[in-house]
Amino acid sequence: MTSPNPALVRDVADRRTFAIISHPDAGKTTLTEKLLLFGGAIQLAGAVKGRKAARHATSDWMEVEKQRGISVTSSVMQFNYKGKVINLLDTPGHQDFSEDTYRVLTAVDAAVMVIDAAKGVEAQTIKLLEICRLRNTPIITFINKMDREVRDPLDVLDEIEDVLQLSCVPITWPIGMGKNFRGVFSLLNDELVRFRPGEDHLTHETEVIRGLDNPKLDELFPMEMKDVRDAISLVKGAGEPFSLERYLAGDQSPVFFGSGINNFGVEDVLEALVNWAPSPRPRDAGTRMVQPTESPFTGFVFKIQANMDPRHRDRIAFFRVCSGRYTPGMKVFHVREGKEMKIPNALTFMAQERKRMDDAVAGDIIGIYNHGQLHIGDTLTEGEKLGFVGIPFFAPELFRSVRCKDPFKEKQLRQGLQELGEEGAIQVFTDDIGHIYLGAVGVLQFEIVAQRLANEYRVDAIYEPTEVSTARWLLFPDDKGKTKEEFCNEQAARLAVDADGNLVYLATSVYNLQTTQKHWENVKFLTTREMG
Ligand code: GDP
Repeated sequence: MTSPNPALVRDVADRRTFAIISHPDAGKTTLTEKLLLFGGAIQLAGAVKGRKAARHATSDWMEVEKQRGISVTSSVMQFNYKGKVINLLDTPGHQDFSEDTYRVLTAVDAAVMVIDAAKGVEAQTIKLLEICRLRNTPIITFINKMDREVRDPLDVLDEIEDVLQLSCVPITWPIGMGKNFRGVFSLLNDELVRFRPGEDHLTHETEVIRGLDNPKLDELFPMEMKDVRDAISLVKGAGEPFSLERYLAGDQSPVFFGSGINNFGVEDVLEALVNWAPSPRPRDAGTRMVQPTESPFTGFVFKIQANMDPRHRDRIAFFRVCSGRYTPGMKVFHVREGKEMKIPNALTFMAQERKRMDDAVAGDIIGIYNHGQLHIGDTLTEGEKLGFVGIPFFAPELFRSVRCKDPFKEKQLRQGLQELGEEGAIQVFTDDIGHIYLGAVGVLQFEIVAQRLANEYRVDAIYEPTEVSTARWLLFPDDKGKTKEEFCNEQAARLAVDADGNLVYLATSVYNLQTTQKHWENVKFLTTREMG
């Protein structure tokens, strides 16, 4: 192997690619905005000036999101901070869209976990952390909403350690809470940085007070300092010191307290990302590990999104670069299709804006215009037959059958569903006689798909309950297709294909599934399909 190109090594070392994970309402969108504000990527959080009433988060793209006030799609945002190039991947927090979130988590190198200090660890936090664990993703914890009457910080820390089995090391400590929340004391730097809290703008008037024993602190916060010193001495005495190594291994989490809405603690999180979060790591490409500093360009598609901008009826494949360098117009090898393709003008993202991307290295996310040739999980290389592993599809547990109100719109319906299926918004199964079934993880997905079919494809469809209750992907033993042929003959009525053409068994009940499984012992019925 040739030695790595020094410019590439330097650029890769400067990348930080992470996602924010949280239970809905813990404050992920607010923190995202504030990180962008501190990163200098936006000037005013949450809004287009002068349209106060219509304010919505910068990372929420789509009409549906605006209406419902939840993030459905995952947005990608790139900005520079202190010489580092930061790629922030937003994730839908609502559990109905968890599948999308899981895929985004395969494309990052680190995560920030936001916890609501009043609620502590919530259901979706647990699930998301499990996914991070699969890949030992390093986690920074942000305990948010300290400006409210919340729980004792020590309590919240204990709960994270117990429930998530993640060892916590506080890096900052809150002074007071609720109306008396004064800011955070940095245990690491032994100082308090005071600034005027602002909601939308950054203020630069800051004052630094050094030393936990500094009498200035008692003057300023006579009511709070005793408790703060007691708690800090307890934490320091009982806890372990911060270890960069253990953080990077994913088994220790540095913890920051703050209030996203007031900007408290946000800059500390950004500093931690820059100083501690890993630069892009080697990736498993099936046959071998790919180093981020290798010269040949490689990467994979982790998300497809249709019609992000209603003015352009296009689809964008979100692609994580894993090695090499992207240059406009480059030719790449599409491994699944076994042929060359050109990437004429990839995109980079900044919330609602998209710009032409001129240069991208490992860790960066580029948007590739897509007319259906790229699917979720696809690998692109410069010729080598690799397949990046780990992008999951989960067997849905909720089903609807779907048909057009207007039979003349059948073609639009199929096209819309094909695109939404490839995008991963919903799973689409079709059988031999033309029935279409939608499969979802959460019930909200059906509503979103119905709205999008109506708005983007002008199709009014009828959604009906179906006898299908669960689905399994099928894997046949390699006996020259004999088992497959027999199985397909016998089970024809229960078979369908997904948006990628994979054969699926649609069971009417758990009993039905078990009986068929028993009868066909050498056929595998899979609950997840992993791309790559
Ligand atoms: P997400 O669902 O996790 O993206 O949460 P959002 O950022 O949309 O926040 C949910 C709600 O909590 C919104 O009403 C926010 O204004 C509010 N919120 C977020 N951060 C804070 C905070 O630090 N303090 C307080 N008091 N409210 C917050």
